[in-house]
Amino acid sequence: MKTRTLKLSILLIFIFVWGCATVDKKVLRKEEEPYFIEAGQFCKRHNLKLKYFPFYEELVLSGDFIEIILRQDLDFVLINGNVKSLGRSTTYDRGKFFIPASLEPFLKSFKRKVPKDLASLISVKIETIVIDPGHGGRDPGAISPWGLREKDVNLKIAKFLYEQLKSKGFKVYLTRDRDVFVSLKDRVDFARRKKADLFISVHANANRSRRLKGFEVYYLSPKFCDTQSKVLATAENLCQTEGLKLPAKLKNIVGEMLNRENKRETAELVSSIMRSADNVGIYTRKSIGAPFYVLKYNVCPAVLVEVGYLTNYKEERLLRTRLYKKQLALAIAEGVVRLRDSLGKQVALQK
Ligand SMILES: [Zn+2]
Repeated sequence: MKTRTLKLSILLIFIFVWGCATVDKKVLRKEEEPYFIEAGQFCKRHNLKLKYFPFYEELVLSGDFIEIILRQDLDFVLINGNVKSLGRSTTYDRGKFFIPASLEPFLKSFKRKVPKDLASLISVKIETIVIDPGHGGRDPGAISPWGLREKDVNLKIAKFLYEQLKSKGFKVYLTRDRDVFVSLKDRVDFARRKKADLFISVHANANRSRRLKGFEVYYLSPKFCDTQSKVLATAENLCQTEGLKLPAKLKNIVGEMLNRENKRETAELVSSIMRSADNVGIYTRKSIGAPFYVLKYNVCPAVLVEVGYLTNYKEERLLRTRLYKKQLALAIAEGVVRLRDSLGKQVALQK
């Protein structure tokens, strides 16, 4: 008797729980539906273009005056560089992305904005450039087997570059204009004080292999990006004002997303300089991101140019000539001008 009652009650409890669960699920599903919109549909509704960047695992929706960056499993969104909380994460299911519907009200507020305001928000101007001739004073840098000192090569090219960029209408500063020692920290602080839009460090390379030669441009690698933590501080402040907590793992992602603009610009600068160098017949090598101090601690887009190898006999001979140094400076300047022009066009289109 006892076991029967027990069995019955277990059965009843089971039915009750199971039934409840089913009902619960149904209710939830019904309620959940309007909280998500399929990405393609969302874009159609708001007249946005959709792009997916597998490298960043990001979904970018762009319109005339708006750029929205979403990430799978992240309940934050970046709208024109502003962090907003969505309460729900963007999800991926069977080949489709689902965007939280809570994004929609934000779009309306951005649509109302006057284009002029937004243009200034998006515009990336390059006006001030800091050129940084590597080494100097008690620090000669690399020395060629034939006695050519890197610090002298760097300074001469930097001075040519200074003249070139000045003639193109930029505001230009040199971290050193003489053979003096300047600490790396001072170089970076200088660029910050001058509010540089671009930072170009000029160096010459050396290698145990004398065969190695070529012009290289290094850019600030996202991995070593210190600006990230700074941008992240801003993101955290933003979240605090919204009364949100940013989980540790997501902190990096948000910081990375915010830092994208800087990275994109730097990557463009690198390819632009490399193209110019290629055009005038300078032997170039593939560039990679590198954790150089001067690059790591800059706030603006920064590149480090290695003009050539002092350990390669032919290149060293070339680097001794005034003409080749001038040619190198010209190529770098042209790359910068090209970037300025292309950015100008982008801004004009967005207006
Ligand atoms: Zn160097």
